[in-house]
Amino acid sequence: MPNFTLMADRACAGTAASAADALEILRSSDDDLLELVATAGRVRRHHFGDSVKVNYLVNLKSGLCPEDCGYCSQRLGSDTEILKYSWLPGEEARRQAEFGLAGGASRVCLVASGRGPSNRDVDRVASMTEDIKANNPGVEVCACLGFLKDGQAERLRTAGVDAYNHNLNTAESNYAEICSTHTFADRVDTVDRAHTAGLSPCSGLIVGMGESDEQIVEAIEALRALGSDSIPVNFLIPFDGTPLAGTYELTPQKCLRILCAVRLMCPDSELRIAGGREMHLRTLQPLALHVANSLFLGDYLTSEGQDAEADLDMIVDGGFSIIGHDSAEVLREQVRASKAAHTAAFSPVGGAERTESAAGSTLPCGKSAPTGVSGESENVLVPTIRRRGAGTAFSPNA
Ligand code: SF4
Repeated sequence: MPNFTLMADRACAGTAASAADALEILRSSDDDLLELVATAGRVRRHHFGDSVKVNYLVNLKSGLCPEDCGYCSQRLGSDTEILKYSWLPGEEARRQAEFGLAGGASRVCLVASGRGPSNRDVDRVASMTEDIKANNPGVEVCACLGFLKDGQAERLRTAGVDAYNHNLNTAESNYAEICSTHTFADRVDTVDRAHTAGLSPCSGLIVGMGESDEQIVEAIEALRALGSDSIPVNFLIPFDGTPLAGTYELTPQKCLRILCAVRLMCPDSELRIAGGREMHLRTLQPLALHVANSLFLGDYLTSEGQDAEADLDMIVDGGFSIIGHDSAEVLREQVRASKAAHTAAFSPVGGAERTESAAGSTLPCGKSAPTGVSGESENVLVPTIRRRGAGTAFSPNA
């Protein structure tokens, strides 16, 4: 068995795991998994204690992107039947953000599809940020708008944007396999621009796209070199209508090992379990919170997550605290009470009207896959397209 204890001791003392260590982690046995999680958990607690940072996504503009990222339901030529809409009005963006804040988030992530924003788009997001911050003191805002041009990162920073998300997604050596309309270097350039302008760099991964273990390690090394303050780890959601449809190559154990590798290679970076956690970590999600210190609440950009109350249950049951709240338990009770009151007052919005995806409130991010998918239909989940929250008339999952 690899010497996880030594790796954790070093990580707590300021020496991150090497690429060779990370490869050993990725290739370690299921027999050693709990020991690995415990040692990575020690590093997590050394740097972040028992806190969980809750983030909430607001999809400001959905679909119709001219880029061809193979994993993305919003890509050029995607047949995925996602919601497609242009920019939300500013007031609606704030309203959606405030659902997430009421649900426990301390950071809202304002996301728009597309290659990159025009200067007018940047002004639009700057105004939204000012409005959200004026009405919600203490909130953090992260923007995710694609490739940035000269002056745009500075404009966002001046408006009060705290962080900029732009994922590297995969290793440079794998990049051409997943996208032909831009390069890995283009992505690095935008993260650098954001960082230089004083925005906190948020950049992470998507795993489960056919990459090798070496390429996972290569990508983590690149994120470390970029100085990414927060690292979202997405697990591929293989949407129908995209080139990666039907790709299910992760196991819950592998997902945990990947998170542990990131934790030990980037010990003091915020590590976020992101899209696809319900589908791929499945019943091991709570263990992942002992390694990662952050998650997204509720739904993702184009697909549904598990019920937001289940996210809070997982945090409370694990004995964690939520940043921005004195008591995770009290928050959970407040959220429950407020949802019960809302359902009683507007029952058609909370229930009967949303028959087309009502399963999303009880099942984790999807429904049983049709027979034949991956040969294990009872365990595999397929994406449920988001039909609530931003861009719809239905209450969000927050
Ligand atoms: S990941 Fe972003 S840039 Fe790539 S296709 Fe999707 S929306 Fe467009």
